[in-house]
Amino acid sequence: MKEHYLAVIKFPVFVALALIAISAVFFGFALVGYQRLGFSPVGKVVYLIIFLLIIALVGTWILILTSTHIKLKCKSLSIYMKWMLFHIYFYFAKWLNAIFFKGKAGLMESFLHFNNEIVLTAHQDDKHEKILILLPHCLQGSNCKIRITADIINCEECGSCDIAVIKGMADKYQVHAAVATGGSLARKLITDEKPDVIIAVACHRDLVDGVRDAWQFPVYAVLNEHPKGPCFETTVSISTIEFAIKKFI
Ligand code: SF4
Repeated sequence: MKEHYLAVIKFPVFVALALIAISAVFFGFALVGYQRLGFSPVGKVVYLIIFLLIIALVGTWILILTSTHIKLKCKSLSIYMKWMLFHIYFYFAKWLNAIFFKGKAGLMESFLHFNNEIVLTAHQDDKHEKILILLPHCLQGSNCKIRITADIINCEECGSCDIAVIKGMADKYQVHAAVATGGSLARKLITDEKPDVIIAVACHRDLVDGVRDAWQFPVYAVLNEHPKGPCFETTVSISTIEFAIKKFI
């Protein structure tokens, strides 16, 4: 339980540490510069601009943290915060993680948990008609000859893999489930359908790429499991997918 909690908070903690480090470096430089030479008029402007940028970065990060628990009504603000999360803070945490020589997987999973919290909060109490469940091809049994990439409805529900249960669940809740063999197909599915919410299943690497790629869409990420090794007959927590559908439906 403690390990799970630490894994979840890793991303926000790393972003906060990165912001503290940036602020400390700025104030260190400003102080040393002022003590040695004082501030020239140009120097004053430069320091002021950097100071305002840091204030904006810290302020936006506080707003993003708030959005994990409080639903924000302003659409433009939400878009700005999402852009900052995926294009700025993501790299802060990634670089700090690299400096500490830590493995990427833990941070990426934490980032996905963090994103899920924001998506759940932003869409709580909303009803969505177009929910798309995006599945990876590796969920399918390796001996299965059915072309479920064309349409998951082709699955004959033999029960050898999780596709059968997901097909039944998609039918029960009247949501669309599709298998994407790669990023391009996933992008095409999203562009064609323009879903209200996406529930994406994949490994942490593909999920992070997918969530960032489709950042304008709300994507709830569900990690698959690899009992037989990566990319081969993977499994997924059906209850987690059902939990997400019930939250958005
Ligand atoms: S459950 Fe469907 S997709 Fe999976 S192995 Fe059986 S027929 Fe193929």
